[in-house]
Amino acid sequence: MADAMNAGIKVHDSLGARIAGVGYDEMLAREKGSFLDDCRQAAKPPNFMFPGGGGAVTLVLTYRSDGSGSTRCPNGPIEIDDKGTRGYKGIRFCVLVDGAERCGEEMVTEWGYRAREIPPTCRRCIIVAEKLRGEWKAEWPENDPYLDYISGLNGEIVQHVSDRIRGGVEYCQAANGYFQGLAADAFKDATCRIGKEAFTDRKSPLWGCRPILSQHDESIGEAPSDRSSEAAHRVSEIMVTTLQEWCPDLAPAVKAGPVLMTRWEKDAAPVYSSEGRLIPWVPN
Ligand SMILES: [Zn+2]
Repeated sequence: MADAMNAGIKVHDSLGARIAGVGYDEMLAREKGSFLDDCRQAAKPPNFMFPGGGGAVTLVLTYRSDGSGSTRCPNGPIEIDDKGTRGYKGIRFCVLVDGAERCGEEMVTEWGYRAREIPPTCRRCIIVAEKLRGEWKAEWPENDPYLDYISGLNGEIVQHVSDRIRGGVEYCQAANGYFQGLAADAFKDATCRIGKEAFTDRKSPLWGCRPILSQHDESIGEAPSDRSSEAAHRVSEIMVTTLQEWCPDLAPAVKAGPVLMTRWEKDAAPVYSSEGRLIPWVPN
């Protein structure tokens, strides 16, 4: 996956292409709302969840209701946009990639060869998720030895670079720790550097700015409007160089684009003035 990222390959598009059985270029050229688009949407959860040791049932349960978007489906129970498109809240794998007319036609409350008890879950979604797990493994074969290694640990991991020790970890926590912990440590470091400039460095464009929130991979703060462009670019620069120090193997792939807005909106995108200054995005 690291090689793919450094080569500029989009990892969700790449797995989505495999799920759809098409080439990567065809996936890139997909139309919005197409089957390829659905396969691309179905590729994101496996890329995020399976390296953390989760299985098919966890994948279905995690993504069916939270803020992971919605699934278009003419027979769906709710309207998912203001155009009256029907569908489901969250990701429904059976509808997205297996052509199901509705999700949850057959619900199961146990799964696996040990018939483990699970919350009522769409059987077809789980079967699709198991197939997706196979596609994910074929796309990123390094995960087989990785998860084997995780199985052999006994409750403790030492994070790369920081040497931070995390004890009392079970299988999924250990797998997720290595998958995600390095980025988290790097981001904490970037947060400290941003704060230090904002509060102590009079020469920095961040002087007098106020870091507010470090949200997984977004650093959110307030800046005086007359130098908000410089401040936002400086935050980006700190995030990029800090992660490159922590994770030099992925240095070519590191990006952190700045965006300005007068209030936080998930859809915000960078907007530039004719003089090339970053200016606040406003909703249509
Ligand atoms: Zn389903």
